Amino acid sequence: MAQEDPNENGRKPQKEAAGRSRPGRLARNRVCQLCKGEFLFCWTCRCGFAMCQACMNENFWTLSCNGIQWQCPECGDLNGYGNQ
Ligand SMILES: [Zn+2]
Ligand SMILES: [Zn+2]
Repeated sequence: MAQEDPNENGRKPQKEAAGRSRPGRLARNRVCQLCKGEFLFCWTCRCGFAMCQACMNENFWTLSCNGIQWQCPECGDLNGYGNQ
């Protein structure tokens, strides 16, 4: 039986951060480590490696042995396509 605690029900001026403070910058783009270009989207590995879509397309069959996963050239980890 939960009884309402009048003390807990008092009006507390709890301000929820209305709208995150924007530093005035766009989110940092990722830098493709192959072509060194900046992109909004990059394929990334947990080791920090990033590769843009164009480079991925170019190297798809070099990096992928089965078309389902691509192998990070940095650490050799397998990363799934479309699963990030
Ligand atoms: Zn690239
Ligand atoms: Zn990696």
